[in-house]
Amino acid sequence: MTPLTDLGLKGARARVLVLYTGGTIGMRASSQGYVPAPGFAARLADHLVADTRKALPDYDLEELHPLIDSADLAPNDWNRLVARLAVHWAAYDGFIVLHGTDTMAYTASALSFMLGALDKPVLLTGAQIPLGEPRSDALDNLVTALQMAVHPDVPREVGIVFHQRLLRGNRARKVHSQGMAAFDSPNAPWLGEAGIQLRFLSQGLPAGAAPDFTPVNFLSEAVALLAVHPGLSPVLLESVLGQAGLKALVLMTYGAGNPPGLEGRLVPALHEASRRGIAIVNLTQCLQGHVIQGAYATGGALSAAGVTGGHDMTLEAAISKLHVLLGRGLAGEALKAAFLCPARGDITLG
Ligand code: ASP
Repeated sequence: MTPLTDLGLKGARARVLVLYTGGTIGMRASSQGYVPAPGFAARLADHLVADTRKALPDYDLEELHPLIDSADLAPNDWNRLVARLAVHWAAYDGFIVLHGTDTMAYTASALSFMLGALDKPVLLTGAQIPLGEPRSDALDNLVTALQMAVHPDVPREVGIVFHQRLLRGNRARKVHSQGMAAFDSPNAPWLGEAGIQLRFLSQGLPAGAAPDFTPVNFLSEAVALLAVHPGLSPVLLESVLGQAGLKALVLMTYGAGNPPGLEGRLVPALHEASRRGIAIVNLTQCLQGHVIQGAYATGGALSAAGVTGGHDMTLEAAISKLHVLLGRGLAGEALKAAFLCPARGDITLG
């Protein structure tokens, strides 16, 4: 994603930068279904009635190239976004990233880990129905994000604004494929809400100085995900753990972090992989609650095998955090310690 055009309303008092990356919000129907479409700034200007426009902060809109369906997102796209933020950071008070909903929670998580402590908000938003279509939520989501981005009480962190909610980015999940309330943070309180007034329910994370814009050397094939299920073959687990280039596995287990025994082959396979330096993180398949590795004998054996309990972290946060930490060169105990560090509000220990 490199910048293509700068079609926004250039004003002397421009305060918010909107980075348009693609996604349903700006898509157009084609014979193959919805596809990303350029020219969002002009279309947005057509749809914003003058009264609404007057009540909004000034913004510039930068379109990235190529625009993508966020299902095609790869970790290197996070570097491209951070590079655009780095170029513009000093010139704006707040930043909005227009993003497809499918992987928005991954990008919000990754940006939170890459940028670290922030002195300005970075808010991601998108839509379930493209701008200009009947009942589109594009304008509402974007207008709310624009107002929140310059509000004095907005938490200075990476958030997702969707359907009148402000969520911590690395706690957010896409929870509905069809409904307009597509995002929630099932394991953490909302950061804010847009009723008649904007209300910020939390002060958020302590504000920082300028963020860290250092690019991450993302490693391909380094992170894998495996969800246990009745009938999971031990051979499949062993083959995932044997994959060349693998450095971390996220294992989605049942309930409080309980895996199946896999005919006695699970623990030895995990133990052997940990000895080879592969980090294994245990997350629950439940939407709420956290992993207590050791509540049951089946889970307790995981700790002995070197598996790290992921507490209440989301799947999206865990995968993004592992990508970022591995790409920053961490390994072994340093990787585990950094993974469990709650600095970005992504994990509740205990
Ligand atoms: N596939 C689309 C995307 O993630 C879905 C959306 O934006 O709602 O880019």
